[in-house]
Formats: sequence, structure tokens, C-alpha cells
Amino acid sequence: MDYASYLIWLEYVAQAGKEEYHCHLKQYWSRIKKYDSRVKPLLLDTPQQLLGKLAQRGVFEFHQNPDLLSYDRGVERVTALIKLNQQPAEVQDKVRQILIKYQEKPVLLGKHILLLNPGNTNEVPEPIIVTQGSYQFKLYANFDCVLQENDNIIHIVDLKTGHHLQTHTGLSNYDNRQAHVYLLAASYLYPKAKTIASFYNLETQQWSSPYHQTPSLLARTAEMLAIVAKRHQQDKRNLVSNPENFHRIFRPHPGLACQYCQFTSICSFADLIP
Ligand code: SF4
Repeated sequence: MDYASYLIWLEYVAQAGKEEYHCHLKQYWSRIKKYDSRVKPLLLDTPQQLLGKLAQRGVFEFHQNPDLLSYDRGVERVTALIKLNQQPAEVQDKVRQILIKYQEKPVLLGKHILLLNPGNTNEVPEPIIVTQGSYQFKLYANFDCVLQENDNIIHIVDLKTGHHLQTHTGLSNYDNRQAHVYLLAASYLYPKAKTIASFYNLETQQWSSPYHQTPSLLARTAEMLAIVAKRHQQDKRNLVSNPENFHRIFRPHPGLACQYCQFTSICSFADLIP
């Protein structure tokens, strides 16, 4: 069965404000060739990704044993549990700062937590079968945190780190589509509940505005994801019959995107500033 996710959608269509940094060929390297011996070592987390995962893991550990939140040496205990001392110095520093802030203001404490993802396990979630007219596809949606709020409201929280705003455009770094995909997934997983979704930044300790489920939003999101799932399947089929034409299927967009791309050492389309 065809499948889609927010990340696959993002690989096809850039987030608003990040078009210049977008390159479809990256999907070829990171998904299709991910087991290639030249590609595998390039798929390691960037420091920013590592920081996000470890910060989330730290929050998870706090809530595994909430007494740690009121314990003077709670942050030290958590950093030991997540083996923070094995990480690069810059990552250690930032994660520790985030955990200190979280201990001061533990936003999830006292909430009814239905799910809190450890964040650094790379586990693939169970797919949800989405029906779009006569077409069905698998949707993969990995929630960071699900809260049961009062009044039968399910609240999907995506934990973020980093700047809230894009420095070059001033637009949000959060992609509305991610929240929309969560709301669609929740409509299948919690069909009787009202659902909202929001982003919470562990570094800045700020909430985004909540996103609400509406029938038209759910229908539009399912429609877009169906297009993504079909296109992804079609691209993979085309590649099987034309492997040498991979760059005509997964179009390179050399330029600014290459300055931030991990595949420059193996990509013959890379365009780097000398
Ligand atoms: S090196 Fe440049 S052209 Fe090649 S995949 Fe990365 S961004 Fe695209």
C-alpha cells in the first residue's frame, strides 16, 4: 500500500520561506539510497537534531520519575540517565540548559499524559489507514506527546528546540502542515474526541497558538497526503525502470541548498561556494 507522512510531504514541497534550501534529490539519498555504504555514514543526526532528541529524552526521563523535578540534583540525574557526557560539548551544554529550564517550569507536570515519546529511539509508529475517496494509503504520524485535557479534548504537542522564527524571512520555523497531519491522524485514533495540536519550544518555553480540527482542514490534508503518497509510489516505480535517470525523477536544486546539505561529498550536482 502507498504511504505518506509529514516528512515525505516536506521532501516534495518546501516549507514557506525555505524554498531556496529545498532540494528533491535529497529524498533520493536519504530514503532510496539510505542503506548504500556511501550514504549511511552521512545520515547521522546533525547537532541540532541530536539536541532536540536528547532534550525530549530528558523530559521523558523527568516524567518517568516526576520526583526528579523537585530534586536539587534532578538535572544531573537525568543527564546521567541519557548519557549526555557521551555527546559533543556544544550539545551537552545546550541540553543541560534546556533541562534546567524544564525543571524550573515543567509544563507537562500535572497534565494527564496519554503518550510521551522518548524522542531518540527512531521507532516507526504503527501506520494509520487513511481513506481518501476510493483510495487508501498508510499514514505515519509520530506524536511527541498526547495530553488528555478537560472536556474530552485531546491535545497533540510537538516538542521543539531552536529559534521560533526563520532568521532570513521572519516566518515561523514551525510548519502548519505538521500540525495538520497530526490533526488528521488524531481524527482516526481518537474519533470521538475534539483534538487540538500545538508546538511547545523547550528552549524558549513558548507555546504556539493551537491548531483546531475542522472538516475542511481534515479533508484538504487527506487530499494533499494522498497526492504525496501516489507521487512517491510513482517516483519509486519510475526509478526501478530507469535507475540511471534518478536525477530526472528526484530533481536536484543546486545552490543555496547545497551549503546545508549532508550529501555534497557524494552528489555530483553539488554546487558549493569554492
Ligand atoms: S548536494 Fe545539492 S544538489 Fe545534491 S542533494 Fe544536496 S542540495 Fe541537492
